Amino acid sequence: MPIMRAMVLDRPGTPLVMRERPLPVAGAGEVLIEVKACGVCRTDLHVVDGELTHPKLLVVPGHEIVGRVAAIGAGVGGFSIGERVGVPWLGATCGVCPYCRSDAENLCDAPVFTGYTRDGGYATHTVADARYCFALGEHGDDAEIAPWLCAGLIGWRSYRMAGEGKAGKDMTLGIYGFGAAAHILAQVASWQGRRVFAFTRKGDAAAQEFARSLGAVWAGASDELPPEPLDAAIIFAPVGALVPAALKAVKKGGRVVCGGIHMSDIPSFPYALLWEERHILSVANLTRTDAREFLEIAPKAGVSCAVTRYPLARANEALSDLRDGRLQGAAVLVP
Ligand SMILES: [Zn+2]
Ligand SMILES: [Zn+2]
Repeated sequence: MPIMRAMVLDRPGTPLVMRERPLPVAGAGEVLIEVKACGVCRTDLHVVDGELTHPKLLVVPGHEIVGRVAAIGAGVGGFSIGERVGVPWLGATCGVCPYCRSDAENLCDAPVFTGYTRDGGYATHTVADARYCFALGEHGDDAEIAPWLCAGLIGWRSYRMAGEGKAGKDMTLGIYGFGAAAHILAQVASWQGRRVFAFTRKGDAAAQEFARSLGAVWAGASDELPPEPLDAAIIFAPVGALVPAALKAVKKGGRVVCGGIHMSDIPSFPYALLWEERHILSVANLTRTDAREFLEIAPKAGVSCAVTRYPLARANEALSDLRDGRLQGAAVLVP
C-alpha cells in the first residue's frame, strides 16, 4: 500500500508526532496533492497550543500549502496532474447559508478549515476540495510563496478593510507585529505608494531594521506614537493591549483592524480613544475573491518572502521558534 508521512497532533498541548498513513484517495470533487512546502502560521500555534478549541482530532496542521496535483477525483475540472496549486485556510464552505449567498463566505455557518477541521499540509501529501485550491503557475520558489497562502491572503483582506472608504494613495498605515503577514503586506502597500509605519516589540532593533528594509518609512516600539497620525492600523500580533495603543495612533475616523484569529484580552480603555468615529474591526478567514486578488497582485508587487526552511520532521522546532519570536519572516516546512 502506498504511504504518506504526516506530523500529527493527537491532543492540544502535546508535540506533533511523525506518523505513516495510507496514501489518501481523492474523492469526488477533491484533488490529492503532493506537498512541496507548507508555511507555519501563527494560527497553527493556536491550534497546537489549544487556544482554538474545536480541532478535528487527530489533525494534521498546516494551511499554507504549495504542492503538485498527484491525483484528481471525479467531477473535478480545471486542474491537471503535476500542476502547481496552493491550498489556503478556507477548505470549504456550505454555499447555502446567508453569508455564502452574500459574498461573505469567510463567515460561512458551516465552514471547513484546512489544518484544523480537515487535515492540512504538515505532510508529504494532502487531499483538498478542488473548488478551494488555486493554480499558482510556475513563477517563484515553492517555499518562498507558501506564506502567501495565509499570511499573504489574510494580510490582504486586513489591508482592504483598513483602506475601505479612504483608499487614497497617500494613506498612512500602521502595522503592529512585524511577522510573516506584515512583511508581505509592507511590500504590497509600499509598492502601491502607501506609507507604512511598523511597530514591533520594544527594543527589537532587528525587526525594526527588517521593516525598514521592506519599505516601512518608520519603525519603532508598539508603545510609541508614530511621527504623524495614521489613517489606519492593522494588528497582527495576538496582543489585546495593542488595540488601545493603535487607537491612540489613528486619526479621527481611523480604523484599527485586528488581523489575527486569536488575541489576548483587550484591556479597558477610555472612551475618548474610540470617540470621533474611530473603528475597531476584526478580520475572519478569507474569501476566494481575496485569494484571487492577492495572488494576482503579489507577483506584480514583486513580493518576496524571507523564509526559514525546516524539514517536515522538525515541525515542532519551527513552531517553537515562531512562538518564541526567534524568526524573521516566515517558517516553512519542506517534506
Ligand atoms: Zn455557508
Ligand atoms: Zn494562517
